[in-house]
Amino acid sequence: MSPGNRRRKDIGDYWLGKTLGRGSSGRVKIGIHKITGEKVAVKIIAKSHLASNVSVEKAVKREIAVMKLINHPNIMSLIDVIDLSDSPNLYLILEYVQGGELFEYLVSQGRLQESEARKYFQQIIFGLDYCHRHLICHRDLKPENLLLDKEKSIKIADFGMASLQPAGSLLETSCGSPHYASPEIVNGIPYDGSASDIWSCGIILYALLSGHLPFDDDNIRQLLNKVKVGKYKMPEHFSDDAKDLIQSILVIDPAKRLTMKQVQDHPWFTVDPPENPSTLPDPPTAEEIGRPVSDASEIDDRILATLKDLWTDLTAENVIEALLNKE
Ligand code: ADP
Ligand code: MG
Repeated sequence: MSPGNRRRKDIGDYWLGKTLGRGSSGRVKIGIHKITGEKVAVKIIAKSHLASNVSVEKAVKREIAVMKLINHPNIMSLIDVIDLSDSPNLYLILEYVQGGELFEYLVSQGRLQESEARKYFQQIIFGLDYCHRHLICHRDLKPENLLLDKEKSIKIADFGMASLQPAGSLLETSCGSPHYASPEIVNGIPYDGSASDIWSCGIILYALLSGHLPFDDDNIRQLLNKVKVGKYKMPEHFSDDAKDLIQSILVIDPAKRLTMKQVQDHPWFTVDPPENPSTLPDPPTAEEIGRPVSDASEIDDRILATLKDLWTDLTAENVIEALLNKE
């Protein structure tokens, strides 16, 4: 085939373009809507990568269903999932974020002023809080998963996707996450995902303010030991409030670590209120929701499929019945 008549690759309503990045679960390419030209990011995950076990598959589907419902300015949104039975891949259609990774920016700057770091930290915490309230934990917060949009606002990537990663990969050396993993994860003991996410935020804050990591070692065993012991050097130039916040987050016992609310009430966090406090968007009003569905043909097939993944113990008929029920 000559290059001139090579067919452009497409998936669903999108033409596939250049590769934006690679992660542990697959490639991310740009997607351009065939009609509107809207840009999206298409994450390609080999189905062979997903566990073949039924309960894991259910958990993955459930997480994807929840992610479709999540809507927050600091969380990269999941627009759609394309799962064709004859394709070896699963395609996640994601909001396109064009400003690159926060940590590429950090590397270019060396370290950040406290006021600029605070803006990013607040946005990370708001996005995380919103997801924790919906009972979703990130479990893999790290530099590669924090992107900046064109207004230089944070978009957290890979949310709720922990179950899409190959088992054990959360601690793989290659992805660099042991630096951000909490002692309870490193110790392999059952853990509260939200406290572990807060630990990772403490590491991220330390890195933003200093340009280096609190726990680091070329030797992976040594690194894991350092995290378990929890001893690190606090740079002199950090303000007293920053030191206090970091040392109250990097506490080995998750029960004694600051909670989401305590982080948001800390003086370092509150001294400079966020520009546009983007906590919880208001729920839609009755008018926005419109009149109730009166006929099964009005129910969108894709929404029905999402709801079925959420309530796996219900059949499609039960879900339709519930949607048509006035109560
Ligand atoms: P993995 O789960 O395999 O780590 P990610 O979702 O983190 O994959 O994506 C890998 C890389 O692709 C990211 O670090 C980022 O550089 C790029 N990327 C991911 N999603 C987007 C997006 N929505 N817009 C732009 N770039 C993205
Ligand atoms: Mg990633």
